[in-house]
Order: sequence, then C-alpha cells, then structure tokens
Amino acid sequence: MKDIFSAIIEWHKINRRSMPWRDDPTPYHVWLSEIMLQQTRIEAVIPYYHRFLSALPTIKDLSECDDDKLMKLWQGLGYYSRARNLKKSAIIIERDFCGELPADRKLLTSLPGIGDYTAGAISSISFHLGEPAVDGNVLRVYARLKEDDLNVLDLSSRKKVTEILRQDYPLGENSKLLTEGIMELGETLCIPNGEPRCYDCPVQKYCKAYQHKTTALYPVKAQKQARKRLQRTVLLLECKGEIALNKRKNKGLLAGLYEFPCIEKKMSIHDVEEWLISQNISFGKVVPVGEAKHIFTHLEWEMTGYYVDCSSKIKDFTYASREQIEKDIPIPTAYAYYKKILYQK
Ligand code: SF4
Repeated sequence: MKDIFSAIIEWHKINRRSMPWRDDPTPYHVWLSEIMLQQTRIEAVIPYYHRFLSALPTIKDLSECDDDKLMKLWQGLGYYSRARNLKKSAIIIERDFCGELPADRKLLTSLPGIGDYTAGAISSISFHLGEPAVDGNVLRVYARLKEDDLNVLDLSSRKKVTEILRQDYPLGENSKLLTEGIMELGETLCIPNGEPRCYDCPVQKYCKAYQHKTTALYPVKAQKQARKRLQRTVLLLECKGEIALNKRKNKGLLAGLYEFPCIEKKMSIHDVEEWLISQNISFGKVVPVGEAKHIFTHLEWEMTGYYVDCSSKIKDFTYASREQIEKDIPIPTAYAYYKKILYQK
C-alpha cells in the first residue's frame, strides 16, 4: 500500500480543497466537523460550522452550553442526538481530560458519539497518529483498487480494511494528508454513483478494477439476509436399546439424512406426552435434556430436547442401536448436542 499512499498524498497536496476545518484542524474543529458531516453534505455544513464555533469557540463553552441554545445551534442539521452527544463528551473531556480531546484512538471511542471512523479522523488529522479513518468512501476506493469483494455493508469490512491500511499508514503530517486525500479521492473521483473518473486518478496504475474494467462491480453491497429462527423439538426415543430415527425427505435441508425425530415447534413435557399417546405407544418418564442451537446459512434452529424410554416402537421410524448409528448412520451435526447426550446415557 505504501506506493498507493504516496501517490494519494502527492495528488492531495496539489488538489486539496480548502475547508474551514482543514485550514485550522484543531482536535475540536475536526471532531465537530466530522460529527456534522455524518449526515450532511460539506457545502451545507459550512455555515452551521461557523455559526456553532462563533457561539461555542471552545470545548469548555460547549460543555457549559444551555441545552436550548445547543438545540438551536443544531436546528436544521437534524439527528439531534449528535448534538447531545457532543455536549456529553465535552463534559467528560473537561472533567477527565483537562479540557483536551485525548490523543488516543481508544480513549476517543470511549466518548459518546465518537465511533471508530471519527476517532481515526481526529487521530490522523489533528494528532498525526498513523490511524486510518475508514468510511464508505474509503471502503469503495479500497474495494476497487484491490478488486476485493468485501461487503461494504458489513461492519467487519471496516475493521478488516482499517487493519490493512494501518500496517503502512504514515505518521506526522502525511497521516493527515493521507486521511484527507483518500476522503477526497472517494468524494471527487472514485465516486459512488456513476462512472468513476479514473482518467484523473492518481492511483490508476495500481487499480485492479480499472485495469480489468470491473469498476462497476465494486464495491459489493450484499444486503445481509436476516436468518430465520425456527423452533424445533428433538426426541431421543429409546426402545429396548434401540433409538428411533427419522429419514428426512429427499429434497431440501439435510435431504435424505437420518435424524432423531424432530417436531417443528417447541414442546413442553406435557406436549411430548400427548404426542406419544397419539402414536399409540407405551412410554416412561419424559426427561428434558436441554436446549441447543444450530446455525445453517439462512436459518437457525433453536432446539429443545427430551429423552424418553419407550416400551414399544413407532412404526414410521427406523430403529438402530447406538453402535449401528456410530458405525453406519451419519447423523447431521445439527443434532451433535443430542447425539452426545444419547451416548452419555
Ligand atoms: Fe477509483 Fe478509478 Fe481510481 Fe480505481 S482508478 S481508485 S476505480 S477512480
């Protein structure tokens, strides 16, 4: 990444746009601007930024600001919790950090409203620490440069890219220039909608997506599907040393495999007793054997299990000894917890 970083820094030195928080990047200014920019465009933020700082020029002023006045200063920007968090943090900074934002990424993220990205921005831009600030812009640039199909909607992607960038991130003034430069590149050239302006890009010769004409394929935005959670009741039915097994249908999940009888709902002891009576068999005590969970790709089974010693067999099931199961019948790992229980009995 070192060559890429150098190219971005050199490009940024020439193309840097002037912004009030860039021209006077004290920690307070960078913090305030990053919070304001979270939901609002740069041009719209500038007048609010000036107005806010004329009313509250220091962190101390912010910490002592009357809530109504604070809300008034924020009016028009929306997402008022951002302003409330600024004040909460200002109070903590006054109380615990002698009125100065701490030059430490971890301590910064301990303050209300300061997430990993904002902490990275303050650390690199104001404190010149070698800390990247990874947001959607940076993820997009990275994904195209490396043709990395990381899912930019996945939070773990930010962590992954932060770690990769941190390895070569420069210290000092270059730390600031690089953070600003990547942001700028993502905002002006490697844009999110429409064709990126690769013809002007300083890192074109390193960019795999440009070389392979795949810029439209990156970044990947796979919406994570919420896993369906299903309740299941697993029955360990033993009859004269043999265990009841059900063969699953030949289609769908765990197709054609043997399993312990599994009812598609959560059952109580009483429910299980009723179910056994409906099968016309004699049985002993229904013993709960605990709960287990199994995660498939798109769904999750939340299982409740019971062991029952029966004196007759249910005709729909196949019966096999523990030894036979162990030797010849593969039971899906979804049932691993109950198989273990069975072998302890
Ligand atoms: Fe983005 Fe194009 Fe530059 Fe690659 S060459 S980083 S796709 S602007």
